[in-house]
Amino acid sequence: MDVDAEPENAQKIPKPHDVLWLHDGNVVLATDSLLFKVHNSVLSMQSSVFKDMFELPTIDGAQASTSGAGMAPELYEGLPLVKLVGDKGEDVAHLLRAVYERQYYSIDDDETPLEIIIALLLLSTKYDFKHIRRDVIAHVSKFYPMSLHEYDEFKEPETMFGEHAIESHFKLLKALHAADVDALLPPAYLACVEYVSDALYERASFLGLECFRNLVKGRFDLTYDLNDLMATVSGDLLDQAGVYKCQKEQKIRIHGLNGHVDVPDFRQVEGSAVVENCLDGLCAECKERVVELINEGRKQIWDKVPSYFVFKDDWDTFQAKLKSIISTKRGV
Ligand SMILES: [Zn+2]
Repeated sequence: MDVDAEPENAQKIPKPHDVLWLHDGNVVLATDSLLFKVHNSVLSMQSSVFKDMFELPTIDGAQASTSGAGMAPELYEGLPLVKLVGDKGEDVAHLLRAVYERQYYSIDDDETPLEIIIALLLLSTKYDFKHIRRDVIAHVSKFYPMSLHEYDEFKEPETMFGEHAIESHFKLLKALHAADVDALLPPAYLACVEYVSDALYERASFLGLECFRNLVKGRFDLTYDLNDLMATVSGDLLDQAGVYKCQKEQKIRIHGLNGHVDVPDFRQVEGSAVVENCLDGLCAECKERVVELINEGRKQIWDKVPSYFVFKDDWDTFQAKLKSIISTKRGV
């Protein structure tokens, strides 16, 4: 006999939230597990979806009963009850605490648990809490380089929002996708393909078909093009750089290129690293030209990153989209 088993219906009766049961609240929000007594004026100020909902005549019980128009709303202890279908109680709690408590979420706090970041992102999108959504997107964007220069400057942290970076990247990709944050999708996909393919396949069902398919395609196409670039190092590229005019062919030694192929990682094909690791017998000027040519090829491949993940727009468009979200003005 399982003595720990709870009565079957125990968890199905939602309970008032410890903090968000405000004594002078005038509306009750309900999820499967939690109830929140809050203020419709406060929600309306920040969310167009709640604003529209509260402006419906049916939400005002008194009005509905006297005019006889519309349906009387469901009540909880005499207050209008709004059921939030499909939202988890804990997620709604994160959202409402961010709404009410100034210190609950800060864009500067990189230790914010990922669970909070994702709940805020998804629910601020669903209910159009514009300013919370802007802050979370701006916060998350710090971890996603949008240009090759930013990429080269960026040092991937071991942990992001309290979880291993690999877990955070996959969970954020899924959330950014679900919350239609197109602007950050190319760098989010890129961050995920850089992990070994096992990591990707293990998360296939978590990611869902569309994300997973884009990742597999992107990983394949990017690896193919980067390999192609490395292949030119042992061929045309050295010729193009004029190294054979400068040195006798037998003096130049190419070695260890294997270590720079078959990884969908731009760091592995950075010109100076490749020249340092793989080419002997070049003079300083030749080295410089080879580095430059490799990096030109690398930049061209970087420019194609959005297209690897089936986007039609270029990086400039994604940067502009991000800028327009982040620069959302104060006020309603
Ligand atoms: Zn030379």
